[in-house]
Amino acid sequence: MKNIIFIAPPAAGKGTYSKLLQDKYNIPHISTGDLLRDEVNKATSLGKEISEDMKNGKLISDTIITNLLKNRLEQDDCNNGYILDGYPRNIHQAKIYEDMLKSLNKELGIVIYLEVDKELALKRALGRVVCPHCGASFNTKIDAFKPKKEGICDICHHQLEIRKDDTEETFLKRFDTYLENTSSLINYYEEKGVLRKIKSENNDTNEIMLNKIRGVIND
Ligand SMILES: [Zn+2]
Repeated sequence: MKNIIFIAPPAAGKGTYSKLLQDKYNIPHISTGDLLRDEVNKATSLGKEISEDMKNGKLISDTIITNLLKNRLEQDDCNNGYILDGYPRNIHQAKIYEDMLKSLNKELGIVIYLEVDKELALKRALGRVVCPHCGASFNTKIDAFKPKKEGICDICHHQLEIRKDDTEETFLKRFDTYLENTSSLINYYEEKGVLRKIKSENNDTNEIMLNKIRGVIND
């Protein structure tokens, strides 16, 4: 199995598809956000430092993220591939990551870029409902993802909660900013020949998306 960097704009479904890939290929999904949160929860001295920085709205330094990531990639469950999510975010980090891989004797693998139209991403973001009990997510604005019974989780029958992270305006701004900040990284990987683009369409079920992703992993 290849090492995979998974890049996608907000509300493209990256979390869902990462989970599917993890289960399908039995490889870990490594999110740098989770690594940071875990460290904070463990209340190590580094965790306390991270927690302070987060509270003060400071960006977490590349050194901290790099060390956490390196420790994670050294673990045995990464030997047969992994899905990296949330890193690298720019060319500077991409180069740090390549040095790290060299020192770990690992391959870069492929970079999957999940494209999604802005309209669809907006529907996904604003229609998103989650189950606070089992974590399943649904969407009230997309037919294929509506819960069978309005407001109720298909899996555990708990009441669903609406996620109000965004308004239309804040979402569109976040989406545009993401594309602006990421375009040079995408070009960087395209020039290296490791970029694989996949497009997520309106009623794509998880199965269809998984097939698309499998297609680019196997080619
Ligand atoms: Zn549930």
